[in-house]
Amino acid sequence: MSAKIAFLPGDGVGPEVANAARRVLTQVAKKHDLSIGFNEFAFGGAAIDACGDPLPEETKAACLEADAILLGAVGGPKWDMSEKRPEQGLLALRSALAVYANLRPIQVAKGMEAHSPLKAEIAADVDMLIVRELTGGMYFGKRQEGKDKATDECLYTRGEVERVARIAFDAARKRKGRVTSVDKANVLATSRLWRNAVNELHASEYSDVELDHMLVDAMSMKLIQSPSAFDVVLTENLFGDILSDEASVLSGSIGLAPSASLGDGTRGLYEPIHGSAPDIAGEDKANPVGTLASAAMMMRYSLGKGEIADDIENAVAKALAAGRGTADIGGKDSCTSFTDYICEIV
Ligand code: ATP
Ligand code: MG
Repeated sequence: MSAKIAFLPGDGVGPEVANAARRVLTQVAKKHDLSIGFNEFAFGGAAIDACGDPLPEETKAACLEADAILLGAVGGPKWDMSEKRPEQGLLALRSALAVYANLRPIQVAKGMEAHSPLKAEIAADVDMLIVRELTGGMYFGKRQEGKDKATDECLYTRGEVERVARIAFDAARKRKGRVTSVDKANVLATSRLWRNAVNELHASEYSDVELDHMLVDAMSMKLIQSPSAFDVVLTENLFGDILSDEASVLSGSIGLAPSASLGDGTRGLYEPIHGSAPDIAGEDKANPVGTLASAAMMMRYSLGKGEIADDIENAVAKALAAGRGTADIGGKDSCTSFTDYICEIV
């Protein structure tokens, strides 16, 4: 079997962590008789510099033809004030791929308890999956920007809510069978639509899954007070952006957390949740674990290779438990030496 991966290293530490994942994937695929073709394309700030567009046509077309897309990170101070911004490329790519569900698993790996702000006995029980709606809501609504008055429109349709809720319910069936849907239904019209649509889908197709609702302000407290109470957390785009960054801190370092963005079908976009980390870019200090874990999700969801995903996840868990790791988690490894070690044991 062969797989076609669109490989977008991006900016800052993006190329460092993306190449780490490429090395590990190439190594582990051999063992499983899978041939992976990585096709590299310009994206983000690097693409603005090369051709003036953060998502060049050629890159977009290649992503639409690939089995999956592996992305490092985009952005950096160089483009902060430029007319075209790397982040626009990311929004455009998510739209083009119609990846409307962003999945972020949150756990505290063995050996990472000391880096998590949680007490060790709580940290051990954290195992949640945040499912964030990714292509609707405030980030895609109409904007009007004036000197003294501005508006950002937040719009959701029932269909947009149902399709992402389906992904959350399906995921819950394979996990602990619980979904917590997060909204602000005491204030917002879009949140009331959200809650009704989730309730109706639940009643008609997913009554075997336990469902409860929580207001986003309460959720932002509960996430810190009792994170082990949650299984699948389902929420809209803006709330999900904030809650998933908050939750990522629980795992011990922003460098550890992976993400998958999925739509209909099996194609997906995989990237670590961290940004381009310009403060450490080029120094071989970046933690590649978030990208390695994203590559594992890619193998599981887009390529149906759960065994390869397990191998990568087990190797990473073993390395962390043995005290290997980069400086952000108190280790002595460089990005390269950690990756060398994973390639040895995977
Ligand atoms: P963006 O706007 O792209 O999200 P940001 O500045 O908000 O960028 P990051 O680029 O994720 O966020 O960086 C936040 C902090 O976390 C920085 O101090 C950075 O060095 C650190 N960091 C991010 N990723 C990693 C990583 N893989 N390994 C180690 N440290 C990291
Ligand atoms: Mg950020």
